[in-house]
Amino acid sequence: MSRFSATIWGARGSIAAPAGPNREFGSDTSCVEVTCGKRTIILDAGTGIVGCGRKLYEAHVNDLDILLTHCHFDHIMGLPFVIPLYKDHVTARIFAGHLDAGTSCRKMVERFMCPPYFPVTPKQFAAKIDYRNFSPPETLDLGDGIAVRTVKLNHPNGAVGYRIDYAGRSLCYVTDTEHVPGQPDKGILDLIEDADVMIYDTTYTDETFERHVGFGHSTWQEGVRLSEAAGIRQLVLFHHDVLHTDETLEALEREAQARFAGAIAARTGLTIEVGADNIPV
Ligand SMILES: [Zn+2]
Ligand SMILES: [Zn+2]
Repeated sequence: MSRFSATIWGARGSIAAPAGPNREFGSDTSCVEVTCGKRTIILDAGTGIVGCGRKLYEAHVNDLDILLTHCHFDHIMGLPFVIPLYKDHVTARIFAGHLDAGTSCRKMVERFMCPPYFPVTPKQFAAKIDYRNFSPPETLDLGDGIAVRTVKLNHPNGAVGYRIDYAGRSLCYVTDTEHVPGQPDKGILDLIEDADVMIYDTTYTDETFERHVGFGHSTWQEGVRLSEAAGIRQLVLFHHDVLHTDETLEALEREAQARFAGAIAARTGLTIEVGADNIPV
């Protein structure tokens, strides 16, 4: 059976967290490495992509697809530090689908990696990079039997949710989205229907959500409601609040598991085999 797995390299939202109280769940911001057979797809380029890039370089992985949900700093901050992008034998495609007309994925990266904010510009990337723009709900055909469906998320400045279908299994990555209480997001429900795994924005809880309306994030309880409605088997709590230390996240994970047996909180280093019976820790 073809390998289909997702490894968490960064699960933190908004900004990297201090190391001390966050040893279990990790400090780094959004980055998930997805393996589909011989192909490597990276979801978001938060600070977690730095370690991911180093590992891929050492493993001689020379072909990458980087799918960005959006370009808030916590999702792109690691991009200038991805070692394979500085190697001329590497080919990479970087996708963005949240930008307004008049800008593009390439322009967005050029504006971000630019003096005086940063001394290195994308011109110094030696890899062959193809910057790709798309508009949700477009489906991206990555080849080798990998189809990626997309949907617009409810987030300030826009964001995109992804569903990767491969070898009869599916993984959804839905982060940086705000729900409307009592009104499940139809676009998300369509996207995630019957998926094996959903990684979901659980920055807040239903109890703290009211104070954060308009911030663009969701709760683990909404993740459970969506999972139950759509028949998701494994829900991965993701985009952890920077103030949620190990102790808090362990408690939230236990609460979520009591409500939905297939819930697990993302921690750096966790690998999920998509479609396998992953046992919550
Ligand atoms: Zn974020
Ligand atoms: Zn964001």
